[in-house]
Amino acid sequence: VLQRTYDDQNCSIARTLELVGERWTLLIIRDAFLGLRRFEQFRESLGIARNVLTERLQLLTDTGILDRVRYQERPDRYEYRLTEMGRELSVPLMGLMHWGDRHLAPAGAPRVVLHSGCGGTVTERHVCEECGSLLDARDLEAHRGPGATAAAAPVSL
Ligand SMILES: [Zn+2]
Repeated sequence: VLQRTYDDQNCSIARTLELVGERWTLLIIRDAFLGLRRFEQFRESLGIARNVLTERLQLLTDTGILDRVRYQERPDRYEYRLTEMGRELSVPLMGLMHWGDRHLAPAGAPRVVLHSGCGGTVTERHVCEECGSLLDARDLEAHRGPGATAAAAPVSL
C-alpha cells in the first residue's frame, strides 16, 4: 500500500511525483511553459483558490522549479519564471500531451507544439519534424490544434 507520501521509496518516479504529481502543480508548470508569469494569470487560467495557488507557487519556488522575480517596486510585484530545472519538465509534459492526443482527444489535438525557428511540428522527443533539430524548451511554441474547438474551453497559448 502506498503511503500518503512516497518518501520511503527509493524510486525517482515516486520522488518526482511527490513534487509535481499533484494536479494543480503540474498545470501551473504547463501554464508557465505557455508563457504565464503572474499570480493573477495563473489564477484566471486555472480557476484555482488563492490559498492553494499561493501554496503551490511557494512549493515550486522552494524546490527550484520556478524563480520568483520582482518586476516592479513600490508596490513590489513578483512574477514566476521557469528555471533551467523547471524547463527540463517540458520532456515529461510533452510526453503526457502526446499520449493524451493519441488516446483522449477524439476531435484531434487541442494544442500543437511547433519549432519557433522554422514552424515545424515537434515530436514528443523534442525533435523538429521539419528541420530535424533536437530542441530545447525555449525553442517550442504552442498553437491551437485541430481539436481546439470553440465549444471547448479556449486553448490558452
Ligand atoms: Zn525546425
